[in-house]
Amino acid sequence: MRLYKLFIDGKWVSSSSRKTFVSKNPANLKPLGKFYLANKTDVDKAVIAAKKSLALWSETPAPKRGEILLKIAQLLKRDKEKLAKIMTQEMGKVLNESRGDVQEAIDVFEYMAGEGRRLFGNTTPSELKNKFCMTIRIPIGIVGIITPWNFPIAIPSWKLSAALICGNTCILKPSSDAPLCAVELIKILNEAGMPKGVVNLVTGSGNEAGTAIIKHKDIRAISFTGNVETGKFILKNAGIKKVGLELGGKNPIIVMDDADLDLAVDGIIWGGFGTTGQRCTAASRVIVHKKVKNKLERLLLKRIKRLRIGDGLNKKTDIGPLVNEKAVEKTEKYVNIGKKEGAKLLYGGEKTKMKGCFYKPTLFTNVKRNMRIAKEEIFGPFVSIIPVKNLNEAIEVANDVNYGLSSAIYTENISNAFKAIEKIEAGLTYVNSSTIGSEVHLPFGGVKETGNGTREGGIVSIDEFSEIKTVYFDYSNKLQKSQGIK
Ligand code: NAD
Repeated sequence: MRLYKLFIDGKWVSSSSRKTFVSKNPANLKPLGKFYLANKTDVDKAVIAAKKSLALWSETPAPKRGEILLKIAQLLKRDKEKLAKIMTQEMGKVLNESRGDVQEAIDVFEYMAGEGRRLFGNTTPSELKNKFCMTIRIPIGIVGIITPWNFPIAIPSWKLSAALICGNTCILKPSSDAPLCAVELIKILNEAGMPKGVVNLVTGSGNEAGTAIIKHKDIRAISFTGNVETGKFILKNAGIKKVGLELGGKNPIIVMDDADLDLAVDGIIWGGFGTTGQRCTAASRVIVHKKVKNKLERLLLKRIKRLRIGDGLNKKTDIGPLVNEKAVEKTEKYVNIGKKEGAKLLYGGEKTKMKGCFYKPTLFTNVKRNMRIAKEEIFGPFVSIIPVKNLNEAIEVANDVNYGLSSAIYTENISNAFKAIEKIEAGLTYVNSSTIGSEVHLPFGGVKETGNGTREGGIVSIDEFSEIKTVYFDYSNKLQKSQGIK
């Protein structure tokens, strides 16, 4: 089996731990390759390389940095099909969605390449004569990037593109469920002409490689996407670093009695079962007006029964496998919890007989807002229907969770829509569209336990990856004091 190495200081190198792990295809459990379990010594080496290259990279004019980013986008375009196939094999999502993941990476590298000609600061008047005031953006330094497996090329790309255009150097630690995608991405960065040491890759466990990154004193910022528990651990242990956290979700779709139900069903199927329910923005709760509950259930059941489960490489597959066996066990655990809590299982609730990490799309109804299946992130093909009597109750239920990432409302009534936009506690609200469908030039992120206030995508992600310097330029040739001090 092929052994993939770490990428440090522009070279593919072995880990000093010599230990390895295997990445497997969840559709058939066949191994895809061996990867090093990097340790603290490897992370230290990566930090030394990132430190050495910082002056060169940060002094490279931002438009020139942008040229390399644009080249990366072009190479990703060239290899889109190959990368999508690797992604489907490594983490299971259907090929069309993997293509979308690579496309998101292409889009964000293109977008951030253009940012190289902006990176705007502000100019503003001074309270004194002959004095000029402005803000400029400066790099933070070395950035540690820790990513999950569910968007294994898109998420590292959001973070790397923004960090790099701002002049930082980076250490990427991808999830151990998708290290091959990260290796392929780094190969492209290298081919595009990224100077050595600017981006380094360490594969390995969160406990060892991840912790070494978050605790390293020379790393000035951490950008993390993953689950809440890991996010909390990072906040506690990162010390005084700039920390960006993009965490989990328990995203609601509200369906009002005036909604176009066929449209709502499309949105629930896509939001609840797309990516096998393994998106941070997955629609895991359907909060439905009781007047249309029965009809919605009938329509949903008809559609769910038609969903085809299988290997994501097969063109006919609608739902691929879960990422690994642990994820299957977790989904199964929540099915049992749902049954014990008294919710009604309408469909699924069991594994398939196929070899691989497959689970039937699962639909529970008569779910009460306080049940665990209504509150906790399951991250599987699992949708809970919660009936309510009106919009106020729907919004209350939508907000009755610790998370606040995405949300949606289906309604034909403008007042309902605007009330939902205003009152739902979430970073994203969609009207008459599902909870998923972000575009790279708009901010992405959530409130409450979904994050700590940062947003990725669009211009705001420049804030996550740069520091602001305030400049006062006094050309009066005398000592001038602000605040009117004489
Ligand atoms: P995870 O938290 O288990 O792992 C994410 C990364 O953190 C991995 O690289 C892992 O190795 C690393 N890690 C684990 N323990 C660590 C530690 N102690 N120190 C440092 N690093 C550590 O999450 P996951 O299972 O890979 O991803 C699924 C989660 O990610 C879900 O909760 C999902 O909602 C969330 N997610 C959020 C967004 C978003 O933008 N908000 C996007 C995608 C996924």
